[in-house]
Amino acid sequence: MATEKRLIDVNALFPGKLLAVNIKNPMETVEDLMNRINNAPTVEAVEVVHGRWEKSKRHLWYKDDGEIDEYRYTSGFHNGPVCMVCGAHFCVHCEPNYDETECYDHHYICSMCGEPSLEGHENYCPNCGAKMDGDRNG
Ligand SMILES: [Zn+2]
Ligand SMILES: [Zn+2]
Ligand SMILES: [Zn+2]
Repeated sequence: MATEKRLIDVNALFPGKLLAVNIKNPMETVEDLMNRINNAPTVEAVEVVHGRWEKSKRHLWYKDDGEIDEYRYTSGFHNGPVCMVCGAHFCVHCEPNYDETECYDHHYICSMCGEPSLEGHENYCPNCGAKMDGDRNG
């Protein structure tokens, strides 16, 4: 017969780090200790964070080392970012407010951490691990 996993919260049993000096009752025997552990209430394995993919109409710029790649598009003196969703490109000199323009297409962002996803099909956010089982808006 397979024994079921029993997960306990050690912090609830031993406040602070588990060190011999932290044991409150110096008369506690190993048997007492075993009983305490055996009788500890079990806890849930993981606290699942729930999120959802939210539709975003903002452009999703190609990045370079985490920063918007403002040299993805270059043409003479003009240079600027390119959206990986709709392909639109802007010149940072001629259109400094490029980030405020709306994307012709859309992508999704994690409601918990803002991680982008082109399709929003992933069941878990690859960045924060949220379970994407909330209603998708859009
Ligand atoms: Zn320009
Ligand atoms: Zn776009
Ligand atoms: Zn996330």
